[in-house]
Amino acid sequence: MPKNNGDLEMTPEAMRESARRVVDLLVDRAETLRDSRPWDGEFARVLAERFHQPPPEEGREVSEVIEQMAREILPLAARLDHPRFFGFVPVSPTWPSVLADFMASASTVNQCTWLTSSGPSQIELTVIDWIRQWLGCPEGAGGLFVSGASAAAVHALVAAREVGGAPASPALYMSDQTHSTIARAAFAVGVRHEHIRTLPSDRQCRLDLELLADRVAADRAAGITPIAVCANAGTASTGAVDPLAAMADYCEAEGIWLHVDAAYGGFAAVTEHGRRALAGIGRADSISIDAHKWFFQPYEAGCLLVKDVRTLERPFALRHDVIQDTIWGANHPNVTDRGLQLTRTARALKLWASVQTFGMAAFRRAVSRGLELACRAERRIRNDPNLELLHPAELSIVCFRVRPADLDEDAIDTLNKHVLASVFWDESCYISSTTLRGTLALRLCITNPATTWADVRGALDLVVRLAADWATGNGGAEAQARGRAVPSQD
Ligand SMILES: *Cc1c(COP(=O)(O)O)cnc(C)c1O
Repeated sequence: MPKNNGDLEMTPEAMRESARRVVDLLVDRAETLRDSRPWDGEFARVLAERFHQPPPEEGREVSEVIEQMAREILPLAARLDHPRFFGFVPVSPTWPSVLADFMASASTVNQCTWLTSSGPSQIELTVIDWIRQWLGCPEGAGGLFVSGASAAAVHALVAAREVGGAPASPALYMSDQTHSTIARAAFAVGVRHEHIRTLPSDRQCRLDLELLADRVAADRAAGITPIAVCANAGTASTGAVDPLAAMADYCEAEGIWLHVDAAYGGFAAVTEHGRRALAGIGRADSISIDAHKWFFQPYEAGCLLVKDVRTLERPFALRHDVIQDTIWGANHPNVTDRGLQLTRTARALKLWASVQTFGMAAFRRAVSRGLELACRAERRIRNDPNLELLHPAELSIVCFRVRPADLDEDAIDTLNKHVLASVFWDESCYISSTTLRGTLALRLCITNPATTWADVRGALDLVVRLAADWATGNGGAEAQARGRAVPSQD
């Protein structure tokens, strides 16, 4: 391996050779992914001993550093792009997207202003406009890329608060299925915890409009001012979609900002089925949507759309002397004027690059696959006397549990905790859980286009088999053999 050039520089040969090595390692990883475990991790004590050292005064060969990252550090992680990873919200980034991130990084693009990044700025505006059309938002709607839906919600709620005249006692309304990041964002923009209204959802895990209307009326009478209602377009637990059109009617009539959390579910809108499921989403005042979930992009690729871009620019476009040269005149938007971040990476470029490479037809098929496999999993669960469907397939999620005929609720709960832990240690697939109306639910989220029906069926078969093992007293043998404790699911 050629030596480094001097302080913080490398020779062109060393640059090429090290980059080629990285490509080889990454393509090897992709080629062997299906045969690898979907998760790996290590205990904190072990890793602190291994890695918690002072920075070296003198460097070493870059090849060594690359090998160490590839073999000792990066594999100790969930493989969210594994075809049998069904936990949380998986993602399987396309290769052109990864290359776009690499190119943007190596080209040192600071995508804050038109002056510093006109090319990437135009791409961001274009991609935002694609997403606007997919979601059916009106012309004039726009936004920006941010780290993820957490950041998007903070921006949206700042806009909502300011449009609403920054009331002294602001309140936010949402169902109990809403992601915790929304409450966090609400708190960050000045909504007190006790004014974050979490309304019990209905049997379908959807927001109850009557409860919403009653709560808003009671609050207004008490001098508390609604700044926003948050609707779910695909909850993280079950994929449930709130009654978006009815909520838009209500919010319009009441003059309340409607934010839609479409972080997970939003990109279903590129398919016919998804468009129907998300009907009404385009009427929202703001929408957060994560391309690093169901649109096959590497982290971080969150996106915020608002109905009227000026609602972001009014609070966020502040000037500073040191960037006074970056004003290009009319129709040259500085994306930094729409949000919190000044220095920004070119996040939209990866989405653009991957859509250019594969085309929308391929993306539509890839999203559809998750929808279809979730429905098929639902049928398989319904037909198995050992399994109980806890929530039907919505978007690409299905929730269920093991339920042998002769057990009471406590015993079923305990059994499902054991099954979940046993799946975890079995290491052939990864699933995670949620809680539905107080009940532990096993949950599959299927978003990887490389996932086959055999993968999904295999996960369900494994659950049934491990439950039977527990019933006959063989359960946990594997975990015990490893000398590791079964992780607590409490
Ligand atoms: C992932 C997720 C979030 C949080 O988004 P980040 O990108 O992690 O900030 C919020 N809501 C839903 C429904 C999600 O799935």
